[in-house]
Amino acid sequence: MHELAITQSMLDLVLKQAGEAEAGKVGKISLVIGEMTGVVPRSVGFYFEFLAKGTPAEGAALNFKVIPATARCRDCAKEFELGEFDWTCPHCQSNNIEIIGGKELFVESIEVE
Ligand SMILES: [Zn+2]
Repeated sequence: MHELAITQSMLDLVLKQAGEAEAGKVGKISLVIGEMTGVVPRSVGFYFEFLAKGTPAEGAALNFKVIPATARCRDCAKEFELGEFDWTCPHCQSNNIEIIGGKELFVESIEVE
């Protein structure tokens, strides 16, 4: 999976911010992960523990905010959550939909000590 690369770039960003804040230690990291990205929080946590060893972020708590996959129907303009395999509008059964949420992937905030 691509979680290793994602976790590495997330950690780079966190360490850069911690360095700029002249923080000795990172206490908590809040991450926003959209369902559509396919990123598994558990895997990120696993890689994080491994990659953060020996850095100021070692032992930091990870807080995940998972954004559900949501879509808007182009025919009836209603918004709804997408099921895993069901990509039709539940209101009018149209397939003419656009994804409006669930592709998010970013570090929302970090807390330093
Ligand atoms: Zn519709």
